[in-house]
Amino acid sequence: MKLLPYWLDTAKSAGDFRRNELPARADVVVVGAGLTGLSTALHLSRRGAQVALLDAHTVGWGASGRNGGMATTGLAISFATGVKRYGSGPAAAMFRSYNDAIDTLEELVETEGIDCSFERTGKLTLAVKPSHYRDFEKSAALMRELAGQEVHLVPRSRIRDEIGSPYYHGAMVDPLGAAVHVGRLAAGLAASAAANGVSIHEECRVVGFTRRGTHAHDVRTELGTIRAEQVVVGTSGYTGGLTPWLRRRIVPIGSFIVVTEPLAKSVVEELLPNRRVASDTKHLTYYFRITPDDRLLFGGRARFALSNQDSDRKSGRILRRAMVEVFPQLADIRIDYCWGGLVDMSLDQMVHAGQRDGLFYSLGYSGHGVQMATHMGKVLAQVLAGEPAANPWRDLKFRAIPGHFGPPWFLPPAGVFFKFLDRIS
Ligand SMILES: Cc1cc2nc3c(=O)[nH]c(=O)nc-3n(C[C@H](O)[C@H](O)[C@H](O)COP(=O)(O)OP(=O)(O)OC[C@H]3O[C@@H](n4cnc5c(N)ncnc54)[C@H](O)[C@@H]3O)c2cc1C
Repeated sequence: MKLLPYWLDTAKSAGDFRRNELPARADVVVVGAGLTGLSTALHLSRRGAQVALLDAHTVGWGASGRNGGMATTGLAISFATGVKRYGSGPAAAMFRSYNDAIDTLEELVETEGIDCSFERTGKLTLAVKPSHYRDFEKSAALMRELAGQEVHLVPRSRIRDEIGSPYYHGAMVDPLGAAVHVGRLAAGLAASAAANGVSIHEECRVVGFTRRGTHAHDVRTELGTIRAEQVVVGTSGYTGGLTPWLRRRIVPIGSFIVVTEPLAKSVVEELLPNRRVASDTKHLTYYFRITPDDRLLFGGRARFALSNQDSDRKSGRILRRAMVEVFPQLADIRIDYCWGGLVDMSLDQMVHAGQRDGLFYSLGYSGHGVQMATHMGKVLAQVLAGEPAANPWRDLKFRAIPGHFGPPWFLPPAGVFFKFLDRIS
């Protein structure tokens, strides 16, 4: 079993960007070469800006190369909660922005010719309790009425049309959801950005900023300093002491994934006959999909811990048991990959994008960043260029996590709390 992301292992990197000489100046420095940073850099370079894209590790090393590869519709919170919190108009606009985000991703893949198996497979949400299926009926009506979103429901009696598992009590299908090979997506975006003149620098950690004007900064890195007119921070769950104000507002939560050996076609057709991307309704959600080469990818929060090799291995064992509980027919199937990554959870589980101390940022995707991080790159490029931009998150208050000043000490109690919620709801 390999303790590394399947996506990065099965993608051809766009190049070795570890030794590039740092430019002395740039119109924009982008910190973080995940989907936020790559998309921002690419969209800015299309406008003729000189961009330097810096990452402490390598392209796609963060959550962008470690996720489930699911570009799904809907908010990270339920639509009903969104309506209660923000009112029907704003909630519907925020909800629809995820559709725009999948469209942005699709458009980028097409215009840049990125071979990343992007496919509108549809999204399957699975009820772990009968009451959750009854909630689907209410949600579907609300989404249709307020957001114009058409989904269809699959009762337990017909669940085998969608999934070969005895575990679930019904499903909701949203046909707009998509699957993508995120390793090849990140590499493709990096190749396009580099071809457009973006100067990419891997293994180049940013260690500090010296402000020189409203948005201008000297960006200090381990390899030297770049004078930038504007700076974008796209560090998501890997946000650290470089931007303490942002770190106080993001909880990095470990999420873990296992990937099986390639499965026979007949097994794939039994497990997920329509190859939809799927997640269930537990607080400690399971999510899964079929990879382009017919493996099952199965993810979940598994344990409340940060990701490291030991933690990933332990989580892998827990996830394997969970996978066999959902799909007993996989009891003898080998696990080929196991890894973990950090989800950038905000207190309200909403995206936050704006500026602070002259630095532009977008983060807080709360487990829904494949499409939204890519989309926010386009939005940030519009904001930096001074164009009218549809930033759906502009008016949200970005609250600090009470008591959170450094590494997150509160993960085990949070885990107990979520498990308790699963038992009672
Ligand atoms: C296990 C897992 C499963 C997920 N599944 C899904 C899914 O199926 N669908 C979905 O929509 N979302 C999913 N997500 C969330 C999604 O992957 C993220 O929201 C998204 O990738 C965030 O992209 P990003 O570019 O903002 O951040 P990241 O991809 O995390 O990139 C941040 C980068 O910043 C760099 N960095 C940090 N500090 C510095 C510094 N000081 N100097 C230089 N560089 C720095 C890091 O090295 C890192 O590469 C999942 C996340 C995880 C962890």
